[in-house]
Amino acid sequence: MEFCPNCGKLLRPKEEKKEVFLACNSCGYRTEGEAAEEGYVATEEAPKEKIEGVAVNEGAPNLPTTTAQCEKCHTDKAYYWLEQTRAADEAPTRFLQCVKCGHKWREYS
Ligand SMILES: [Zn+2]
Ligand SMILES: [Zn+2]
Repeated sequence: MEFCPNCGKLLRPKEEKKEVFLACNSCGYRTEGEAAEEGYVATEEAPKEKIEGVAVNEGAPNLPTTTAQCEKCHTDKAYYWLEQTRAADEAPTRFLQCVKCGHKWREYS
């Protein structure tokens, strides 16, 4: 709320000739008008999109599993993936990661 600097009364919002301003009913004081045409511009706040899809869980990589024994905890199930580590004309190396303790190793063929 704003008050009249002259008489201290509450200023009332008024609109006149496409201008809005605050005016005092007692002494006639008024603030400078602001263009009313633009009006209230609603700020569009787009709802934040929820990231859908696979939740990244580092403890459980989205990889296929195979039967392989971990040398650390002796779990016989491990994730596996292939990586081309050597020359492109050679077979890719298969890497394994224990599903239980996360130990990684490469499979030597
Ligand atoms: Zn006044
Ligand atoms: Zn293990």
